[in-house]
Amino acid sequence: MAKLVITIDGPAGSGKSSAAKLLAARIGAAFLDTGAMYRAATLAAMQNRCDLNDIKQLEKIIDETNFEFEMKSGQMAVKINGSDITEEIRDPQVTANVYFIASAQSLRERLVRMQREIAAEYEKIVTEGRDQGTVAFPDAEFKFFLTADSAQRAKRRAKELTGNGHKVDINKLQEEIEKRDKQDTTRKIAPLIPAADAKLVDTTSLTLEQVVEKILELIKK
Ligand code: C5P
Repeated sequence: MAKLVITIDGPAGSGKSSAAKLLAARIGAAFLDTGAMYRAATLAAMQNRCDLNDIKQLEKIIDETNFEFEMKSGQMAVKINGSDITEEIRDPQVTANVYFIASAQSLRERLVRMQREIAAEYEKIVTEGRDQGTVAFPDAEFKFFLTADSAQRAKRRAKELTGNGHKVDINKLQEEIEKRDKQDTTRKIAPLIPAADAKLVDTTSLTLEQVVEKILELIKK
């Protein structure tokens, strides 16, 4: 287990990924984007034409796929069976299908195990997702939960997607974000909720720089 684990959880577009990355760079820690892991497992299942409702098929795919997660020029590069899928996992179709993997206990257990194995390789790690402070690393030294209103989160996602060449309808994006919030917060297993000992940071009107400053300030306290 890493000596220092900092968890950052929160809903889509709350800024947790960018904040975790910048924080990790500032303190010389590794960075883990666990959403990318759920996305990679989803893409592996889609490429193998699995029935996404069939947990046994999904378990088999996760067990038999070789996943690689590696930090490269500030972003987490993802490979499945040697092929780079870093861009593909951001496809809206993958986003829409992650739900199938994210709501099954036996699949989550596999991904949490992988997350702990990765953390064990580093002295310090900043890990972000939905259940990092509650399930994956309940004993983490520092836990944060980022929030922001859904209109602001949709704007951030739109900027990211248009930057990657996708066409977006901002209203539709906000609806999708709210739908995903509902799925993530109401699922029975590892729902998106702040850990009891997490510090809440509302990022609605903060810049990325200000979010990281605030987190560093809270850590120093
Ligand atoms: O963070 P990102 O938007 O890439 O996450 C994609 C999806 O993966 C989330 O909507 C959520 O359903 C799932 N997820 C999860 N637990 C995590 C990280 C992501 O359930 N730790």
